[in-house]
Amino acid sequence: MLIRKLFKFEGAHIVRNCSSHRCRENIHGHSYIVEVFITSDKLDKGYMVMDFVLLDKVKELVDSFDHTYSLWREEPEELKSFVYKYNRRVAEIPVSPSAEGYALLLLYLIDKILHDTEHKNGEGNVQLASVRVHETATGYAEAFREDLRLVDFDTHDIRFSEAIQEEWKSDEWWKQLTR
Ligand SMILES: [Zn+2]
Repeated sequence: MLIRKLFKFEGAHIVRNCSSHRCRENIHGHSYIVEVFITSDKLDKGYMVMDFVLLDKVKELVDSFDHTYSLWREEPEELKSFVYKYNRRVAEIPVSPSAEGYALLLLYLIDKILHDTEHKNGEGNVQLASVRVHETATGYAEAFREDLRLVDFDTHDIRFSEAIQEEWKSDEWWKQLTR
């Protein structure tokens, strides 16, 4: 059985090295839609794969990118200092913030969050199947479980600025992820 939960965020970025000049040379933003697909081999006592309530940390994670500048760690120091100087919400990430980059990053993090989520309602083998990131109304990128092999970073390579962390209900989930 497969379930899907949708999240949204408004994000700013530059995608370096892409073919489009508009995309690679300008700070700009998109209204992102993130779809998270989860499968299980059995249903819990409530006849669900898992209760969406258990995805509260995923919501917190996606919301961390809302009204946030996603800063690729490979950017030159000059841009980094500019971004940090004039923005409070900055997510410094090890992947370029293309839709594919976000999909892979979120796949990696949400997979970890699901592993850390305690299932107490008779859930089966709950697995993250894929993460789909829509950057525009006409295009999306989707990262599947097998794409986890493309991951060449870990949680320590991801940095959420203080202003982002201040809005978290608790930072326990992030501490657990980076432990
Ligand atoms: Zn863009």
